[in-house]
Amino acid sequence: MPLTEIAASLYAWDLADETADHALDVLASRSTVNSAYLVGLMHKEKRPLHARFYPHNPVRRFYLPEDSRVYWRPDPAMYPGRIQPLTSERDFLEGTDWLQVLIDAARARGMRTGCEISHTVLDAAVAREQFPDVLQRNVFGQVVGPFEAVEAQRALPCLNHPEVRTYLTGLFRDLATNYDVDYVQTCLVLFGAGGGDGGTLGDGGRSWQGLLTTATGGCFCAECERKARAQGLDWDAIVDEVGHLARLATRTGLAELHERQLLDEASYRESTLLLENDAFAAWLRFRKESVNELFSDVRDALRSSGRDVEFRYNTYMAVPERAGLDFKSAFAFVDSVRESDYSDQHGTAEGVAIKRAKLMKARRALREDQRLIAALGVRPNATTESLTLSVKAAVDSGCDGLSLGHYDGATMERLDAVRIGLRRWEGQVEDWQPLPGVEPALPLEPAH
Ligand SMILES: [Zn+2]
Repeated sequence: MPLTEIAASLYAWDLADETADHALDVLASRSTVNSAYLVGLMHKEKRPLHARFYPHNPVRRFYLPEDSRVYWRPDPAMYPGRIQPLTSERDFLEGTDWLQVLIDAARARGMRTGCEISHTVLDAAVAREQFPDVLQRNVFGQVVGPFEAVEAQRALPCLNHPEVRTYLTGLFRDLATNYDVDYVQTCLVLFGAGGGDGGTLGDGGRSWQGLLTTATGGCFCAECERKARAQGLDWDAIVDEVGHLARLATRTGLAELHERQLLDEASYRESTLLLENDAFAAWLRFRKESVNELFSDVRDALRSSGRDVEFRYNTYMAVPERAGLDFKSAFAFVDSVRESDYSDQHGTAEGVAIKRAKLMKARRALREDQRLIAALGVRPNATTESLTLSVKAAVDSGCDGLSLGHYDGATMERLDAVRIGLRRWEGQVEDWQPLPGVEPALPLEPAH
């Protein structure tokens, strides 16, 4: 199948600094981009992420965004609960509907367009102050956050809390109802996976220690307890067992430290961990079913707009199962998946092999009518060779498109590599045509 959609992401500050027209002209001419989306709800993350400074921004060397702001004009009617979206207070951003700016520029070029709800949807400082009851808790009752150390005081909302569900579905319904978007994409952080497993590079390891660390994640909030008990789960047994595993994971307590040392020297496996800890396994299944229900609600929120807006899930973890995401069951509710692997940024054949394996995993979990989009890390750590080979990985694994992450950190050479890779690996229908001016061969003489 051809790679028909070549997507690229943009941030509101990219549009402010470079203009949407300039960014889209660069992307369309160098990388044949025909689909552009705004990261419309962006978390707190220094940009550019991997390079220290922007390679081509004419206004600033780097940017430190506010936490979890929306860069469109939210419709208050879509948010009937306690939680409301926050907009930017930065002078150069506030007051402009950046999603509309991008949509206008993209449509003028005949492009598809969309919006992304990124990793976190609540400003952690505001949420800790105003909505502590909706936040994910670990088994010890502490607030769970993504990516940074506990001391950074980040916070994740609990997917099972009704106020969070109302807010989340409101975001999707707002975008689908009020904007001319073809897709709404999200890489929402699901259940806190415990101990720094938020990477988008590499395969995340396959050890039992990684699975054990999940016991330090979320969620053990009052709403999860209520819901689990209502489903007939033995919550007390779950708290006991996951608490023990969390102490093993963090080496807390002399008895647990001793046991952990034995385990580290033992021939122990992930399968052993799962088989011997029934309550832990039941808790993992409870998280999975909670995520599936959320995906179903999000799909329904998009459909309720009455418009045909694609629900695109953007993976964000090397081992998504540790966040409660089971591809096979959750993807039943999506229209397309962007596999967000950026292992091409290792700049090696091994990195490309990791990407190919992740794409195969996603493709196997999707139906034939569901589209798979391969992310490409067009940033300086990637090489022209690793990027063109990543296009081959996308062709090999039955993808339907590419999605460049991210324009702000991209160099022109990396953007050109996308176009070159598509040509080299014959990814599109135009590569499969008869040669002009070449006469067809004469029919064979009939055999005697
Ligand atoms: Zn919870």
